[in-house]
Amino acid sequence: MNYKMDKKFREYYGTNLRQVFLYLVDKCNLNCVQCLYKLDIGFQVEKKEIDFEDAVKLISDFKEMGAKKLTLMGGEPTLYKSLLELIKKSKELGYEYVRIDTNGQFNSSLLEKEEFKMLDEITFSIDRTYKRD
Ligand code: SF4
Repeated sequence: MNYKMDKKFREYYGTNLRQVFLYLVDKCNLNCVQCLYKLDIGFQVEKKEIDFEDAVKLISDFKEMGAKKLTLMGGEPTLYKSLLELIKKSKELGYEYVRIDTNGQFNSSLLEKEEFKMLDEITFSIDRTYKRD
């Protein structure tokens, strides 16, 4: 585990959080023109995906601070290996509204998974893609 909530952040926001956006993974199976995550423009963070334990600790802390809505993003969030467990965990923690922002390029069998059905919303991005040389 690497994550620890910054004390000043917690003091500043108190219990006033309402909505959080969590970036799970850098990876993506598309290559959109406007994307910030492309290797060739050098915008890459050190870690390629968040550790599951860190993600759970983050959303637990944010819940304690008042958050009710959670959006899971990437990269492409369906490429995050612990996505289903994280959706389930977020509902167990009491998030009232959980959604993912996806490019829709995932196997449709995911739609049948019990945890995936716990989502309140699936948002599809429509982007302009190009083929990498
Ligand atoms: S779908 Fe999103 S993350 Fe993937 S390449 Fe396009 S803009 Fe980037």
